[in-house]
Amino acid sequence: MSREQQVVAAARRAFQTGRSRCLEHRVRQLKNLQRFLTERRDDIAQAIKKDLNKSPVVVQMYETLGLEEEIGLAIRKLKEWAAPRPVEKNLLTVSDTVYVKAEPLGLVLIIGAWNYPWAVTLQPLVGAIAAGNAAIIKPSEVCVHTAKVMDELLPLYLDKELYPVVTGGVPETQELLRQKFDHIFYTGNSAVGKVIMAAAAEHLTPVTLELGGKSPCYIDSKCDVTIACRRVAWGKFTNCGQTCIAPDYILCEPAIQQRVIQELHKAIKEFYTDNPKTCPDYGRIINQRHFKRIMSMMEDSTIAVGGDTDEEDCFIAPTVLRDVKPDAKVMQEEIFGPLLPILTVDGLDEAIRFINKGEKPLALYIFSNDDKVIKKMRDETSSGGLLANDCLVHFSVNSLPFGGVGNSGMGSYHGKHTFDQLSHLRGCLIKALKMEGMNNMRYPPHTASKLGWARFFVLKGFNFGLIGRLMLLFAAAAVLAAIAVQKYDLPHKFYC
Ligand code: NAD
Repeated sequence: MSREQQVVAAARRAFQTGRSRCLEHRVRQLKNLQRFLTERRDDIAQAIKKDLNKSPVVVQMYETLGLEEEIGLAIRKLKEWAAPRPVEKNLLTVSDTVYVKAEPLGLVLIIGAWNYPWAVTLQPLVGAIAAGNAAIIKPSEVCVHTAKVMDELLPLYLDKELYPVVTGGVPETQELLRQKFDHIFYTGNSAVGKVIMAAAAEHLTPVTLELGGKSPCYIDSKCDVTIACRRVAWGKFTNCGQTCIAPDYILCEPAIQQRVIQELHKAIKEFYTDNPKTCPDYGRIINQRHFKRIMSMMEDSTIAVGGDTDEEDCFIAPTVLRDVKPDAKVMQEEIFGPLLPILTVDGLDEAIRFINKGEKPLALYIFSNDDKVIKKMRDETSSGGLLANDCLVHFSVNSLPFGGVGNSGMGSYHGKHTFDQLSHLRGCLIKALKMEGMNNMRYPPHTASKLGWARFFVLKGFNFGLIGRLMLLFAAAAVLAAIAVQKYDLPHKFYC
C-alpha cells in the first residue's frame, strides 16, 4: 500500500467514525485553524518570503486576512447553513414536511496551486470542515517552503486523521487521484484541470475546478483614464502578475492608447518606485521555468514601459506592451506574469467580438462612466465574474460565488457557496402515515377521473364541467388556505 493509499484509507475511516459531522467538532476545528493562522503568522510569512518574495504585510493583506474572515463567517453562520432549509411545496405535498438538508459529502481532496498558496488551499478547507467532511490537503510542491510549513505545522492544530496534509509533486498527486474521493477541489491551470477531471470520472467523483485563463480588461474612452490605470496597474502587478484574476490584457481605442501607457507608467512608478527590483512591495516570478516561459512571450511585441529582467533573481519589471497583435505570442495563453499587452479596437462592439472569440474568462473587467456600456458588456459576453471600474476586489466579497465558466473552471466557492459546494443538498420529504384517501388517485386502477384530479393537483388546473368546477373551487380554496399556513412550515423536531 502506498503512503497516499494509507492516508486516504485512514481519512475515510476517520470520517466513518462520524465525528466530523458534529457541529461542535466543526467549530472547534475552525477555531484551531484560526489559531494556527495567528500563532504561526511568522512561519507563514517567512516561507512565502522565500517562495515568492512577498512581504509579511502583503501576505496578510492578500491571503491570511481573507482566510480569517472566511473562518469567522463559517463559525458564526454554521448553525444556520447546516439547518434544514424549508422549501415551497406543491398541492400534493401541502401537508408534508419538505426541506433541503445539507449533508457532508465524505472525503474531499483539495489540490492547491502555488500563487496564493495559503488562500487557495485553506479556503476550500474552511468549507470542507464547515460542511462536515474529511479532507486531504495537497499543497502545491512549487512553493517549496510553504508546502513544508503546511505539512509540519497544520497537523499540530487540526484533527490530523480527518484533515491530513500530503506533500509531493505530480507522481504523488496522480497516486492520490487513483483513489476514490467524494469530491475533488482543484485549483491550477486548465491543462491539468483536464487530467483531474479524467481521473475523477473513473470514480464518478464530482469536481470543482478553479482554473485561469486570459481575463480581458476593456477601457472605454469615456472614463477617467488616470483612475482606471491606477486600478489596472494594481490588479496586474500585484504578486508580479501571478494572480488568476489579474487583468491579462487591455483593449482600448487607438486614440487613448498613449494616455493609457503614460498613466500606467505613472502608477507603476508610484507603487513600485523607479526601481521595482529593490521595492519591498514588488514580488518575484516563482521559478526559472516560469521566468523563461514569460520571457519568451515578449519576443514579438513592442515594450512601452519596463522590460528590465534578471534571470538569477527571477525578476521581471512591470512591463507594458503596445500595439500588440492578436496573433502575438503573449496573446496565445494566460500570461501569469507582469506583462500587460495593449490591443487596440474600434470600440465596444469590436471589444465584445474579440472577447467572445476567446475562451470564457475567469474575470472580465470594464472601465467606463457609462452604465449602458457596462450593461452591454455584461449582457453580450460571459465570464466567471464581471467587475466594472476596479480589479480583483470581487474576490473579497464572500457572498459572491467565485469560480469560472467553460475553460476557466466549474463550480464556485467563498463563504456559504463553499459550504454548499462541498455538501450534498439532500431533498427530504417527511409524510405522516395518515390521510391515505388523498393518495387514492395515484393507485391503480388508473382512471380518467383520477387523471383529472392528478392534473388539478399537479398543474393547479382542471376541466370537469360546471359542478365539478364549483366543487374544485371550494377544494382549491381550502387547499390554498392550508398552503398559506403550511407552505414553509417546518416542525421543530427536524431542526437538528
Ligand atoms: P501548480 O503547478 O502548483 O499545479 C497545481 C496543482 O496541480 C499542484 O498541487 C500540482 O501538484 C498539481 N499537478 C500539476 N501537474 C499535475 C499533473 N500532471 N497531474 C496531477 N496533478 C498535477 O499550479 P499552476 O497550475 O501553475 O497554477 C497556476 C494556474 O492556476 C493559473 O492558470 C491560474 O490562473 C490558476 N489559478 C486559479 C485560481 C482560481 O481560483 N481560479 C487560483 C489560483 C491559480
